[in-house]
Amino acid sequence: MNCRHCDSPLEHTFLDLGFAPPSNAYLSEADLTRPEVYYPLKLMVCAQCWLVQTEDYTQADELFSSDYAYFSSTSSTWLAHAKNYTNAMTKRLSLGEKSFVIEVASNDGYLLKNFVEAGVPCLGIEPTASTADAAELLGVPVLREFFGEALGNQLANEGKQADLIAGNNVYAHVPDINDFTKGLKAALKPTGTITLEFPHLMRLIEHTQFDTAYHEHFSYLSLYSVQRIFKQAGLRVFDVEELSTHGGSVRVFGCHTNDPRATAASVDVLVDEETDRGLQTLTTYEEFQSRADKVKDELLTFLLTQKRDGKSVMAYGAAAKGNTLLNYAGVKPDLLPMVCDAALAKQGKYMPGSHIPIVRPEMLAALKPDFVVVLPWNLADEVVSQNSLVKEWGGAFVTAVPELRVF
Ligand SMILES: [Zn+2]
Repeated sequence: MNCRHCDSPLEHTFLDLGFAPPSNAYLSEADLTRPEVYYPLKLMVCAQCWLVQTEDYTQADELFSSDYAYFSSTSSTWLAHAKNYTNAMTKRLSLGEKSFVIEVASNDGYLLKNFVEAGVPCLGIEPTASTADAAELLGVPVLREFFGEALGNQLANEGKQADLIAGNNVYAHVPDINDFTKGLKAALKPTGTITLEFPHLMRLIEHTQFDTAYHEHFSYLSLYSVQRIFKQAGLRVFDVEELSTHGGSVRVFGCHTNDPRATAASVDVLVDEETDRGLQTLTTYEEFQSRADKVKDELLTFLLTQKRDGKSVMAYGAAAKGNTLLNYAGVKPDLLPMVCDAALAKQGKYMPGSHIPIVRPEMLAALKPDFVVVLPWNLADEVVSQNSLVKEWGGAFVTAVPELRVF
């Protein structure tokens, strides 16, 4: 296989998690009687451009035809983040009724509804019908398409180039990152601004966030690699901010290469920090697997100890990263009998691979477990504050990443 960005041969493994089912392929009761398809889950690093990426395999398209859709609006943390973003961008770019905003992967309208309320014309691009329907109910116009160079050109030809193109947590999830970036270029006004948010590879490595690996998450991005990808497409990263979302993300600001805006000092500062932390050094990547294994072993030891001691354990949050962790650790319902989740679409279903049943959050209070393992550790504060009653019966919360923590 060759690198999805620079086409160099991919020869170095960053992380090998064996085989796993697609992380969002939640199972119904009937599915449990059928065979389940597992695919290799392996991340490679390109020693030329340092893009970390999932290994290619056949049938990737079939893999992601899941009927399950994640609705961004189910997280209050995420809604507040979107509101803050809207306010900051409106002020910084002086957006108003003559501006035009495009959001790629607009989901259920969690972000663009803020622009609609402010009277700023906007367009969402979202191929998933159920979330696009939800956005339209909020008054957000939606184009039900996949984004890439072809759609970018189409928008440009229709006079729909944007002052702001937003992409929050979509860039790492596109299979063809070069084509997607060319689409951004095509759909951007000459003076326009692109902002993309993605989990930062530097934080993934620093905090051993190996459970953020899953098949649908194609790229694991550093600022250095994004700069290269932008440059090849005729774009330039002119500013960057670090964010606390998803365990450490970055928001890059992009413009056309020849835009008069100067590149902020923050860009070189962060690329230098990546270099200092070894993100352009092969050994940094080669050492990661053993750290991931240690996290996995500690969780497994904890669960085995609780089972032996007769303690009860439940999990909270049927998130993709939970599936990666549980499947890599080989955890089954005998060690973790159920997972609570507030999303109605997941309740009554089963976690892919582990087949752990997903139940309503009310089951926590009904069963009063000794330990609650919070699988989406990035939302731990939200989960703990919403379930403060766990402390009242003497229970404790547990997170596994970056190391086992009982609190
Ligand atoms: Zn490469």
